[in-house]
Order: sequence, then C-alpha cells, then structure tokens
Amino acid sequence: MVIDLRSDTVTKPTEEMRKAAYEAEVGDDVYVEDPTVRKLEEMAAEMLGKEEALFVTSGTQGNQMAVLTHCVPGNEILLEEESHIFYYEGGAISAFAGVQPRTIKGTRGAMSPTMIETAIRGDDIHLPETGLICVENTHNRAGGAIVPLENMARIYDVATSNNIPVHLDGARLFNAAVGLGCSLKDFTQYTTTVQVCLSKGLGAPVGSIIAGDKNFISRARKWRKRLGGGLRQVGIIAAPGIVALSSMIDRLSEDHDKAKKLSDGISMIQGLTVVNQVDTNIVLVDVAKKGVTSVEFIEKLKEHGILAVPFGQTVVRFTTHYDVTNEQIESALNILNQC
Ligand SMILES: *Cc1c(COP(=O)(O)O)cnc(C)c1O
Repeated sequence: MVIDLRSDTVTKPTEEMRKAAYEAEVGDDVYVEDPTVRKLEEMAAEMLGKEEALFVTSGTQGNQMAVLTHCVPGNEILLEEESHIFYYEGGAISAFAGVQPRTIKGTRGAMSPTMIETAIRGDDIHLPETGLICVENTHNRAGGAIVPLENMARIYDVATSNNIPVHLDGARLFNAAVGLGCSLKDFTQYTTTVQVCLSKGLGAPVGSIIAGDKNFISRARKWRKRLGGGLRQVGIIAAPGIVALSSMIDRLSEDHDKAKKLSDGISMIQGLTVVNQVDTNIVLVDVAKKGVTSVEFIEKLKEHGILAVPFGQTVVRFTTHYDVTNEQIESALNILNQC
C-alpha cells in the first residue's frame, strides 16, 4: 500500500461526493442555467463574503482570470518571490495577461507592507503602472505557512490607499482558517478578489472558486469563456464541490495533526531536518545531512512505498490529507527512520 504524501490534490472524492455527482440537477452553465453550479457559487460567495462567485476549472485558471480581469498589458504586479502565481504557473501572467511581475521576498510567505508601499510605482512617463497585488495564504513554498491577518490588513490598507486591487491566492485558505480557528471572511475582508481550491484538502475531484464584486465576476466570466473554461452540464462536478464546502472544512484539523505528528517524528531522526514551522498540512524536510539530493532521497522513499515531491536541491515536501491515515504516518516514520 503506497503512502502518498505528494500533495493534498491526490485525495479522491468521497462516497457522498460521488452520489452527489450522480444525482446532480444540471443545465447548460454557459447560459448560466445549471442549478447545481448556481447553488455552489452562491454558497461560496456567502462563505467568502463577496457579492458573487464563479466556478472555474482549476486554481491556476482562477488566478489567471483574476490577473487578466484586474490588469491590462504593460501593468506590473507585485507578488511574493516564491508565490504560486510567479513560480508555478508557467509564466502565464506574462504569456496571457502581458503583465510583468515584480517580486518581493517574504518572511514565511508574508510580504512587508512597507516594501510593497515602496514598490508601488509613481506617476511618471517612464514607469509601468502597478495593476495588482497578489497575496498567498496559506503559502505553499513557505511550507503551508499561515500569513497573519494583521499582515493582510496592512497590505490591503496600502493597496486601497493607492487604488490597487488585492487578489488572494487562497488555494489552501481553508487550511489557514482552520489553523487559526477563524472564518474565511476574516481573511477575505482584506482582499478585492479571492481564489480557493475545492480539489485540494477538501477532496473534491475538480475545481476552484473565484469571488469578488458583481462587476469583477461578470468580466471574469468572459475571460473564463475566452480561456475555454465555459463548461456545459458542469453541475456533475460542482455537486461534489458543494459537499466539500458543507462537510470537509472542519476536518482539515486532522490533516494538521497528522502533519504535526510527522514533523515531530522526523525531527527525532538523525540526518533529517524539518525546515518549516508546521502551521498546517505541509512538512518540509532538508535531507542534505544524509548526503543525498532531494530527488535521490525521494527515489529511495519510493522503493519503500512512500511518495513525496522535491522542493529544492535538498528539500522534500510531505503533504498530509484526507486519504492518509494516522497508521500510515506511523509507518512512514518507521520507513524514514531506515532510509
Ligand atoms: C495548487 C495551487 C494553485 C493551483 O491550483 P491548480 O488547481 O493545481 O491549478 C494555486 N496556488 C496555490 C498556492 C496552490 O497551492
């Protein structure tokens, strides 16, 4: 039995999700006639504290739609140096939206509001216009770090006083909310728009949500169509999303407990160093002292039935989720002890 700790995206839909998909009432969503999609979008908008929400195919698509909707070609956007939008979206912001990124190095994923303020462009014929500020919470490459509410509040303050929108890449915002014991709205009050993934820790098979005001969503809807993301009887996959939002959020604390257990165990193993403060469901481990690279270490783990992903030359990422049991965490620790 393989212990798959590569990502929380590997979670399979629950039985309830499969039933919901089977029974979903559907219509043509390009005509805004799919009642199940409408229900999911209304529910998500309410939970995220925004006027409207839109179901999109993936987190990447949702983020790109936000950049395309907020910006025009030639704009500059401010984002964290290792943010997903900058690091993992294939250069799409430049390829599609024609914007240039200006990265800011964060601390555990949190950018300094002062550095952002300094980076905002002035009114000068030589300069690009700052079109958007992107924040990420939890921050993936910072090891699932929760960006503090206070930091988000200050960034939003700087942004609004400069008339610049803020987009939150909240692929794992549910983990941030459960980790802090607060609501999604506590975060989204400090953002103009937000993207959340239903297909990660919440276990839905497909899809993300973007949310914002009415005007933003109606313009984003057009971008979705342009990008080929206008889907037809998509209630079939929106139905599991409703199950995800209704019953899969609170249990994320179990994933956080499993990550804590994994990191506590790993920190007792010689040659392995946990390099992140484990706020949520991600554990980053440096294997340099074992005298191997992350890729070599992962190969060895794979022979013993554990899957993980490289996160740099000598760092390995382990992610806990719904489909890994506490027993599997224990066996993983036994195996790690021998590798
Ligand atoms: C996974 C992830 C995305 C992209 O989501 P996909 O559905 O895989 O396209 C965006 N941002 C962050 C922070 C992520 O972790």
